[in-house]
Amino acid sequence: MKIAFIGLGNMGAPMASNLVNAGHDVTVFDLVESAMQALENEGANRAATAEGAAKGAEVVISMLPAGVHVKGLYLGRDGAPGLLDALEAKPLIIDASTISPEDARTVAAAAKKKGLTWLDAPVSGGVGGAKAGTLTFIVGGEAAGFEQAKPVLEAMGKNIFHAGDSGAGQVAKICNNMLLGILMSGTAEALALGVKNGMDPAVLSEIMKQSSGGNWALNVYNPWPGVMEGSAASRDYQGGFLTDLMAKDLGLAWELALGSKSTVPMGSQARNLFALHSAQGNGAIDFSSIQKLYRAGE
Ligand code: NAD
Repeated sequence: MKIAFIGLGNMGAPMASNLVNAGHDVTVFDLVESAMQALENEGANRAATAEGAAKGAEVVISMLPAGVHVKGLYLGRDGAPGLLDALEAKPLIIDASTISPEDARTVAAAAKKKGLTWLDAPVSGGVGGAKAGTLTFIVGGEAAGFEQAKPVLEAMGKNIFHAGDSGAGQVAKICNNMLLGILMSGTAEALALGVKNGMDPAVLSEIMKQSSGGNWALNVYNPWPGVMEGSAASRDYQGGFLTDLMAKDLGLAWELALGSKSTVPMGSQARNLFALHSAQGNGAIDFSSIQKLYRAGE
């Protein structure tokens, strides 16, 4: 298939790479030149603009940081028209970014007015899952669009869920990431407590993994440096899932809670922890670096 891929960051680059490896004809666009060069080296074509990448594409996929970027891309910004206005054909559009359900519904409705199907399809599984092609896709939108998207998503992921109508993919993703934020800060807290009381972090991790405290943050994303080979913590928290992106997702959870009169005391606490951690200069490193917050004064 002829696929346009827009946004080649920590997640988008390996996802686009898997599409190339699956034999698709992929044209990429990112604001960062080196990101496009890397994909070109792997066999993708590159375009000078998002519109150029989407020209003639059967499927357009975007993987951008936040709602402001997604709305800017599709609806336009600063008076400039967006991609929805520039499209000559009618490709299936899949946005895999994590944004608010409201933003997703706004763009999907604008697309529908133009006869286009626009799916929200946020992912779970981290950079490791993106590289391995084992991501979970959580899709919101009409069933027909979901069925059309499935074979393309299968080149990048293992579990493909249809969560419901437009925005439902984001609701499910935000619930998941609120839980992840709580689990990562809780894991960091438990490890710091153990180490302060004389435990080896690797020994403590192994014990908790085999006990009732086991969870994804502990089992596959250990936040203590040196405990897990290949983890973000073991490469000085470089790359991965940035603190600022987790803080954004916890903010999205807070907005959802306000709008639905839900109570999220644990999610609020996690949001405050990640916001504080970001304010201390850790926004652009992996979110598991929240461990540092518990090691202050060491
Ligand atoms: P990132 O910051 O590493 O990458 C974003 C990329 O988008 C950058 O390369 C940037 O240059 C590009 N970009 C921004 N605006 C653009 C535009 N207008 N046109 C073209 N390119 C543009 O972010 P990421 O870690 O790849 O995450 C992307 C999305 O996926 C976010 O919404 C994030 O919350 C979500 N997510 C991330 C992870 C993870 O582990 N990193 C996991 C699940 C979901």
